[in-house]
Amino acid sequence: MRVLVKSLLHWILPSQCYCCETLLEVGQPGICPACLSTIRWIEPPFCTRCGVPFPSRVGENHLCGGCLTRRRYFTIARAIGYYEGSLREVLHRWKYEEKTYVTSFFGEKLEEGFFRYWPRPSFDLIIPVPLHPKRLKERGFNQALLLVKELSRRTRIPYAKRILQKKIPTPPQVLLNGEARDKGVRGSFHIQNAEEIRRKRILLVDDVYTTGATVNECSRLLLKAGAEQIDVLTLAHAVLHH
Ligand SMILES: [Zn+2]
Ligand SMILES: [Zn+2]
Repeated sequence: MRVLVKSLLHWILPSQCYCCETLLEVGQPGICPACLSTIRWIEPPFCTRCGVPFPSRVGENHLCGGCLTRRRYFTIARAIGYYEGSLREVLHRWKYEEKTYVTSFFGEKLEEGFFRYWPRPSFDLIIPVPLHPKRLKERGFNQALLLVKELSRRTRIPYAKRILQKKIPTPPQVLLNGEARDKGVRGSFHIQNAEEIRRKRILLVDDVYTTGATVNECSRLLLKAGAEQIDVLTLAHAVLHH
């Protein structure tokens, strides 16, 4: 009933841009063209391993400094857009106020990126980076799971939401460097029903890739539990080196 009233209201009242709140045309919910046009999508050259885009727009893909010095358990990580500006704004709001049209917009972008980065995908399972139960309770939903459901529906690859679990909340890590963040998340996840991932090729999905510490730790654990290969897809990449 509430959904019906809400969708009726969409047709009567003009909706606002989810990002900057300017009024949009009646019946056209979403993100306004001005905000959309400022989103920077990730393009080569980027790191062949972690996918961080390089500041220089020319040259070949190659390994970044971080991937040369730190152990990565995932095979490749890729992201769709830069975690900045409108995309950052929309992602931030969406974490606290889920909107179906934003979820499906993200789903569309993830699907495009997925087939661009993996032209012949051969994954058995998609797994979201989990939230700690306390955070999940506060927020009401796991944004990574929403992305996974969208991608699973669009690619017909099954997903599993309970295998990987977060058992220890991670302290805020904004000020920690890469290595300290690796240590900070170490041991904070655990795996349930490991037999379901044995010899499986897994795509791990999260909303933002920052230093990679979280997805790296999840990958380490999944491999240890018998998974064959882990790749990572995130909606955004927070580029820290500039
Ligand atoms: Zn806008
Ligand atoms: Zn890298």
